[in-house]
Amino acid sequence: MKNISVAIDGPSGAGKSTIAKAAAKELGFTYVDTGAMYRTLGLAAIESGTDMDDGEALSRLLSGLGLNIKYIDGTQHVFIGERDVSDGIRRPEVSMAASRVSAHHQVRTALVAFQRDMAKRQSVVMDGRDICMHVLPDADVKIYLTASVDDRARRRVEQLREMGAEVSFDEVRADIEKRDYDDTHREVSPLRQAPDAHLIDTTGFTLEQGMDAVISYIKEKAHVL
Ligand code: C5P
Repeated sequence: MKNISVAIDGPSGAGKSTIAKAAAKELGFTYVDTGAMYRTLGLAAIESGTDMDDGEALSRLLSGLGLNIKYIDGTQHVFIGERDVSDGIRRPEVSMAASRVSAHHQVRTALVAFQRDMAKRQSVVMDGRDICMHVLPDADVKIYLTASVDDRARRRVEQLREMGAEVSFDEVRADIEKRDYDDTHREVSPLRQAPDAHLIDTTGFTLEQGMDAVISYIKEKAHVL
């Protein structure tokens, strides 16, 4: 049977990962969180003191990193060698680092090849910024998931507080606005809605409503039950 690919793009905090993860589970597909890969390189750059403006140095760091993705009880975990960094990469300073390292074409070329390879091997729900237009331009289903900046900041604050981080709404909102700006204005693969992607705006939605909207669209489009 042909592998099916579902591509979901959108800005930070639109609920992409929670919704994409739930959709993958419901459909029996593999969830691929591409942001986690940029975050892992961001974390490694912080820890090693690598210059985040130097694309060549970051590309060397990435190729020697031993970045690995494993699925534990159906959940994606990212590893640097044997070290599971899945929690560490969620810290706010790593979000900013991920955004910075992701602006370099050398970094993107390597990670995009890795992501395409994953989609070749299995049916996936893959989320990120450039999945519809660049990573999987032939995806069976394409969705652009967004919400207002305030809604996204509120959700991110809840998520970070659940993880024990002490953050203020204003700080998180400012981070999201900065990342939106950087992600939509970078030269390589800037974030934007693909012309053939279906827009789902979850402003004012509960998480369940967001999930329902996405999952029913995927089922309708991919003819899977
Ligand atoms: O989705 P998440 O917030 O984990 O992504 C972290 C950062 O990684 C984003 O702000 C963006 O700069 C970058 N990213 C990207 N392309 C992707 C996924 C994430 O540039 N496909």
